[in-house]
Amino acid sequence: MINRERLTNTFMDLVKIDSVSKEEAQVSEMIEEILDTLGADIVIDNAGEKTGGNAGNLIARIKGNMDVAPLMLNAHMDTVEPGRGIRPVLEEGVFMSQGDTILGADDKSAIAIILEALTIIKENKLPCGPLEVVFTVCEEIGLKGAKHLDFNLITADYGFALDATDTRGVVTRAPSANRLEFLVHGKEAHAGAAPEKGINAIQVASRAIADLELGRIDEETTCNIGVIQGGLATNIIPNLVKIKGEVRSHNTEQLEKVTQNIVDAFERAAAEKGNKSGGSDLPSIDAHVEYDFTRTHIAEDHPVVALAAQAARNLGREMTCKTTGGGADANVFFQQGIVTGVLGTGMQNMHTINETVRLDDMVEAVELLLEILKLHAKGNRS
Ligand SMILES: [Zn+2]
Repeated sequence: MINRERLTNTFMDLVKIDSVSKEEAQVSEMIEEILDTLGADIVIDNAGEKTGGNAGNLIARIKGNMDVAPLMLNAHMDTVEPGRGIRPVLEEGVFMSQGDTILGADDKSAIAIILEALTIIKENKLPCGPLEVVFTVCEEIGLKGAKHLDFNLITADYGFALDATDTRGVVTRAPSANRLEFLVHGKEAHAGAAPEKGINAIQVASRAIADLELGRIDEETTCNIGVIQGGLATNIIPNLVKIKGEVRSHNTEQLEKVTQNIVDAFERAAAEKGNKSGGSDLPSIDAHVEYDFTRTHIAEDHPVVALAAQAARNLGREMTCKTTGGGADANVFFQQGIVTGVLGTGMQNMHTINETVRLDDMVEAVELLLEILKLHAKGNRS
C-alpha cells in the first residue's frame, strides 16, 4: 500500500521549502494543502504571535470512522541552520543534502511519514479512529511552539511524536532541564592608568566556572556551561560577562541541587572578590534560572507503549523502550497530561550537514504507524 515514490516526493518537496524556526509559514501551507485533500479539519493557533514567528501550530482533526478515544500525532515543522536552500539527493536509498546544509529530515521525515499514512488510510477507506495531528513551530529553539500551543484544541490523552532516530524504539524517558544565564557585573576602568578602580568581571566568572563540576554528574544528570561572552579590549577592565549553561536530569531533586550548586559558585566567587575590594556591592551576580522542560517518564505498561509494542509485534518486529538525554515537544505534551511516546523515523546525524535518512527506514516507520492506527481504530490499545 505504501507508495514509495509519493513518500519520496513529499519528503523532497518538504525539505526544499526553507523553514528555519520562526519561518514555517510556507511549509505549513504545503502541509495544509495535503491535509485538505484528506478532509481534515484544520486550525492554525496563535503561537506565531507569541513566538514572533510567521506561523502558528497547525492542528488537523481527522474525524475517522470508528468511535474510539482520540489519538494525537505530532511532528515539528521547523529546522535548525544551516537550513536554507536545501537541495536533497537520494543516492542508493539514502537521502542527504549537498553537504552545505542540513537535510531537514529532523523533522520533515516525520511529516512525510504521517502524511503518507493518512493518505493511505483515506485512499483505501481503512478503519480510522479520531486523530488530532499537531504540527508545531519553533521546536528547535526551546519547544516554543508546543509551549504556546492552545491545548484547548487537543482532547487526546495520549499519542505519538515522531522525532527520533530508531524505528524500532519508543522513547519513554526524557530528562527535565533548566536553562541558566548569569550576568557577572564588575567595574570598568582603564587597565593601565587606573586598574585600582576596576573590578574584573572576567576573573570573577572564571573563578566561578573553574570550581564547577561539569559534564556527566551522575547516571541521570548532566550539566554544561556553553556560552561565555564579555570584555571589550585589553586595556579595559571588563565590567560585564554573560554566561549561559544548562542542567538536565531524570531526577527532579538532583536537577535542583546541581542548579543551586552552580548559582552558589557564582555568588561565592563574587562575594570573595567583593571582600577583597573592600566590601563594595560589586562584583554582583544576576542569576536567571528558567525551567526549560519537565521530565517525561512513561511506564512500560502504559497503553501508549503497549500500542506501539503490539503494532511492532504484528509486523514481526521488536520494540524497545528508550531513554533520551534531549528535550522534545513530547516533554511539553507530557506535562500537559498527553502521554506521548516518541517514535523514530530513521533520521541520522541531525543538526549537522551530514544528516541522512534511509527511504527504507521511512517506509518502515509508515508501516508501524499504519499498524498503530489500525489497532487504535479497533479500540484495541494492546
Ligand atoms: Zn526534531
